[in-house]
Amino acid sequence: MIDRERIVAEFCELVRISCSSKAERQVADVVKSKLTALGLEVFEDDVAGKINGNCGNVFGFIKGNPAAPVLMLSAHLDCVEPCAGIEPEIKAGVITSRGDTVLGADDKAGIVGILEALRVVRATNISHGDIQVVLTVAEETGLSGSKNMDKGLLKADFGYILDSGGSPGKIVNAAPGQNNITVIIRGKAAHAGMAPEEGVNAIVVAGKALARIKEGRIDTETTANVGLIQGGVATNIVPDYVQITCEARSRSLEKLEDQTRHMVETFEQTAAAAGARAEISVKRVYDPYVLADDTPVIAAARRAAESAGFAAALEATGGGSDANFFNRYGVPSAVLGVGMAKVHTTDEYVTVEDLEKTAKMVVAIIQTVAGMTQ
Ligand SMILES: [Zn+2]
Repeated sequence: MIDRERIVAEFCELVRISCSSKAERQVADVVKSKLTALGLEVFEDDVAGKINGNCGNVFGFIKGNPAAPVLMLSAHLDCVEPCAGIEPEIKAGVITSRGDTVLGADDKAGIVGILEALRVVRATNISHGDIQVVLTVAEETGLSGSKNMDKGLLKADFGYILDSGGSPGKIVNAAPGQNNITVIIRGKAAHAGMAPEEGVNAIVVAGKALARIKEGRIDTETTANVGLIQGGVATNIVPDYVQITCEARSRSLEKLEDQTRHMVETFEQTAAAAGARAEISVKRVYDPYVLADDTPVIAAARRAAESAGFAAALEATGGGSDANFFNRYGVPSAVLGVGMAKVHTTDEYVTVEDLEKTAKMVVAIIQTVAGMTQ
């Protein structure tokens, strides 16, 4: 059965290995040999070349009962900085780093949960369907691994991404889509002392537009943020150029478009009224997704959580993940809680208990999905 000592040892082994985004080679090679030893057919895709990294996404496949749905189990190989020389410490059942790096439970907690579950399934001859393991690279730098993946490589009917805070049993069933909005305000330069009336102040135009823009929390499923502003040269020059970078997110595509339009029009109208020009580009970073309660991916996760003895907790999130791309590629995917906490900080931690529970949850998912014969 699930072996607590083995999970902790494997977790500590993996977090110690260098795994910066786009430089996952070392950890990927270790994980690939583990997957091979567990009887999976393993290959790496060609994403390394597309994202200028040293490693592609890792795929593993193990055949099972062909009557059951094909299940995807996913996590990401990379880690945010600072992650060089991570040294895990365990005190009273809590694993932290020494404090000068992140811990890397994001997302080694997910990887270890998948590995331990596969090990248990193999050792105890638990019946299963086909399982595809997908370990992505460069998740932390704009989801580059999943974004550049050939969707034809995904074989599953649905899947789970083990990459959320919250205890095992937490199931993320909805996430926002995001637009990045880059605005350049072009005014007219002039000498600030001799001929200010000849100028059009781009900074002032930007300020007026920003004062009119709705930002922050727009509604329960929509947010917007003005994240960056740059412009101006000197106090004696009326500035003719400002660049502003904003984002809008919503779990509703319609609201995402509405908020984006509001921001774009406000910049355009304010600029035009002042005799300036707004050049705006909008880029969809990823699409939103909402998984209904009665979809197999959510139904199976709830049943698995209950059979493992955890309270199933459905939650919408405000952040994007590989699930945004997998859902777009036609593989309904939910993100699962693995207990990682204070991620992206040097105070990151995970409990030994949650590592163990994650593996238990994955075993329960494998068993539940195996029972869903089509
Ligand atoms: Zn993560």
